[in-house]
Amino acid sequence: MRLSAYYLPTLRETPAEAQIVSHRLMLRAGMMRQSSAGIYVWLPLGLRVLRNIERIVREEQDAFGCREMLMPTIQPAELWRESGRYDAYGPEMLRIRDRHDRELLYGPTNEEQLTAVFRDTIKSYRQLPKLLYHIQWKFRDEVRPRFGVMRGREFLMKDAYSFDIDRDGAIRAYNKMFVCYLRTFERMGLRAIPMRAETGPIGGDLSHEFVVLADTGESEIAYHRDFLSLSLKNTDIDVDGDLQPIVDRYTANYAATDEQRDRGREAELGDDLIAGRGIEVGHIFYFGTKYSKPMGATVTAATGEEVAVEMGSYGIGVSRLVGAIIEASHDDAGIVWPDAVAPFQIGLINVKADDAECTAAADTVYEQLRAAGVDILYDDRAERPGVKFAEMDLIGVPYQLTVGPRGVKAGTVEWKARRSGERAELPVSAVVNLFVR
Ligand code: ATP
Ligand code: MG
Repeated sequence: MRLSAYYLPTLRETPAEAQIVSHRLMLRAGMMRQSSAGIYVWLPLGLRVLRNIERIVREEQDAFGCREMLMPTIQPAELWRESGRYDAYGPEMLRIRDRHDRELLYGPTNEEQLTAVFRDTIKSYRQLPKLLYHIQWKFRDEVRPRFGVMRGREFLMKDAYSFDIDRDGAIRAYNKMFVCYLRTFERMGLRAIPMRAETGPIGGDLSHEFVVLADTGESEIAYHRDFLSLSLKNTDIDVDGDLQPIVDRYTANYAATDEQRDRGREAELGDDLIAGRGIEVGHIFYFGTKYSKPMGATVTAATGEEVAVEMGSYGIGVSRLVGAIIEASHDDAGIVWPDAVAPFQIGLINVKADDAECTAAADTVYEQLRAAGVDILYDDRAERPGVKFAEMDLIGVPYQLTVGPRGVKAGTVEWKARRSGERAELPVSAVVNLFVR
């Protein structure tokens, strides 16, 4: 992508309304703009990151046997009256009336919607288990929308739902999503710690929040230091096998947020305890028959009995993750994207756009990398070099290539890793080979 043909409205000044670094950087890097409180316009650069996160979430859901569908944003109020949540949800729910005076709402979550579809389509235990998900915009009229996309009113969520004949099956589904989440966040370059959580308005009896460590997080957390060395990377996961041992490894040590904290246990941990703040990026629940019972979602069991189906739900804050990743990965110069979610893999800078030789060399590097399928952003503008370097650092592209008059004479370009700051002068052919596999 040539920057001259792109739409990247960066800001030089730090916007006054943004209180935390991710919000500031997203505005400055031209990723998004506010539409109204807690509602955002995603600009091309921000959308690329959002889509990358969405893709990783989708790939991991699919890999764990979860089937994608798409439910509407607008739901009928009746469904929520059936579950009893229409009144219980309170002013966070955006209630709407259509021209026929029918009551609708903009979904804050989708348990009722999917339970209603389920009860009309699944009748027998033979059709179970089922794991279904969608990635869809939600609306919650938060009392205090703030911190940009981290606590928006309109936000993108992946929500999955499991349906099983009994508790054992439901726990298996829970464990699947638990391990799926560990893998999903690791792929994004994040350390997300699963913590025992309150079940809140979703209700139920087993729940974990996945929390990314960040000083600006809204949750107060405390956890055993062993979490900092736990990693799934070397674990071969058999998705259909017994995942309990992996889950046990992650739940053996103490980790809790906010009200769930146990000061007694924390005192016993002594130096092994780390207290800090974190950002909730995912939340999983097992809630049994909380919705299936009142909504009549039953199936015929092997015994011939009609039983209410056992359910769980599993959320990931897709748009919140954009901010959370920045909170976890930035420096004084700007964003430092982990490779897996970066909007572009390479940022190519032509230092002297008014120099024919320099431009010819930069064009060649650009065309070769583009032809090889590398996601590359080419700053071909006639801007001052200082501006170009600063903007490339700001938007956090993981690798930078700089073509300048001196290098052109020597047949080299400068390579720089954004995260480490490591630099090298490389022959043009070597650069192309570095990224083309
Ligand atoms: P929180 O405690 O942060 O208000 P929640 O517990 O109400 O979140 P869930 O119902 O568990 O949220 O939703 C699943 C996921 O959706 C959360 O883990 C979070 O990542 C994301 N999420 C929830 N509310 C928002 C919001 N207002 N803006 C952005 N993402 C959100
Ligand atoms: Mg939650």
